[in-house]
Amino acid sequence: MTIKVCVCGGGNGAHTLSGLAASRDGVEVRVLTLFADEAERWTKALGGDELTVIVNEKDGTKTEVKSRPKVITKDPVVAISGADVVVLTVPAFAHEGYFQAMAPHVQDSALIVGLPSQAGFEFQCRDILGDKAAAVSMMSFETLPWACRIKEFGKKVEVLGTKSVLAASLIKGTAETVDPLSTLQMLHGAEPVFRLAKHFLEMLIMSYSFVHPAILYGRWGTWDGKPVAEAPLFYQGIDQATADMLTACSDECKEVANAIMAACPGNDLSDVKDIYQWYLEYYHEDIQDDKDLYHAITTNKSYKGLVHPVKAEDGGVVPDFGNRYLTEDIPMGMIVFKGVAIAAGVPIPKNDKLIMWAQEKIGKEYLVDGALTGKDVATTRCPQRYGFNTLNAILTGKKE
Ligand code: NAD
Repeated sequence: MTIKVCVCGGGNGAHTLSGLAASRDGVEVRVLTLFADEAERWTKALGGDELTVIVNEKDGTKTEVKSRPKVITKDPVVAISGADVVVLTVPAFAHEGYFQAMAPHVQDSALIVGLPSQAGFEFQCRDILGDKAAAVSMMSFETLPWACRIKEFGKKVEVLGTKSVLAASLIKGTAETVDPLSTLQMLHGAEPVFRLAKHFLEMLIMSYSFVHPAILYGRWGTWDGKPVAEAPLFYQGIDQATADMLTACSDECKEVANAIMAACPGNDLSDVKDIYQWYLEYYHEDIQDDKDLYHAITTNKSYKGLVHPVKAEDGGVVPDFGNRYLTEDIPMGMIVFKGVAIAAGVPIPKNDKLIMWAQEKIGKEYLVDGALTGKDVATTRCPQRYGFNTLNAILTGKKE
């Protein structure tokens, strides 16, 4: 049996997944990109050649994987019809267009994958797919499996590094699908080793979407508006107060998880971890001093050299708040978590404080007096936006 995989997107991740998946026996890859003329450009760039994925292996060697997707198209009928697996590998702001394009054509037995999904993926998918949503299965990956960059558009992409392990959550639909975990593992290869999380809300809560806003707030929350000489270190430059803020936000995450488990038995969110524990697990090889969260972040080697996003002004630099640390992590992150917290009846004052500061910096209004009634809520993925107002609605997908 041939497994038909539709890869949605045309960027770094889409190039990488298309090339790796198309190289597997018994796999047919269709690329769907709805963005401008990207499908035509990719088709033309590839011509009669093969797509090359250069993989930097952990032992320092390089492997070249060559293959060809069957088709690269902007036509959802061609790409989606009969697809067993549909993988969205684009930034979250572009998901909506793909859900709308697939809705009339996706088969009930499809496995719809967010690679990565970011918070609210399931709410948006359920809302746009309507009646089909109960049948399909939805899988959410916590992040992209690789650090990857296109070297030559349409032809060559380089995998700079591959995660060792990666978690994904699964909401099984009523229709039978290909086996989710083993199929995704086969498409990717030996690494990362995928594991199933216990619950989709675990993935949502543990996206820890407060991290970037908290670090920005810690550095610029009381800033006097005057340019500084150079971009400060992002993670390694945090202070103790920021580490405390991170811990407080993480504690609120656990409170929400505990409240959901108490109110809705059978929903296992026991793996929602304290952020410090999460850092120790994920970065144990990179952390030089793990005595507390502050040291774990500031001595994490993998953060070396990463600085705050800034723009030049008057001979110095000022923060640039218009990047995805706020423009994605608030509407596709913190606001979604806030929506879940409201449904669970749990106050999250520390998270609220960050949201109030951040939404002003990006010129948006989501949270007003503790409620998600701001004029820009309809551009977020909070559950209430789609009519999932109660915990039961959030968990089952039945609007109420
Ligand atoms: P990317 O920046 O390469 O994606 C660009 C693609 O997004 C474009 O080629 C186009 O297909 C689509 N796109 C851009 N603007 C659009 C628009 N206005 N309308 C519709 N589509 C549009 O993204 P990526 O590097 O493949 O990453 C995918 C996701 O994974 C992102 O959320 C990213 O933050 C995350 N991620 C990436 C990496 C990495 O190394 N590339 C690592 C970790 C996480």
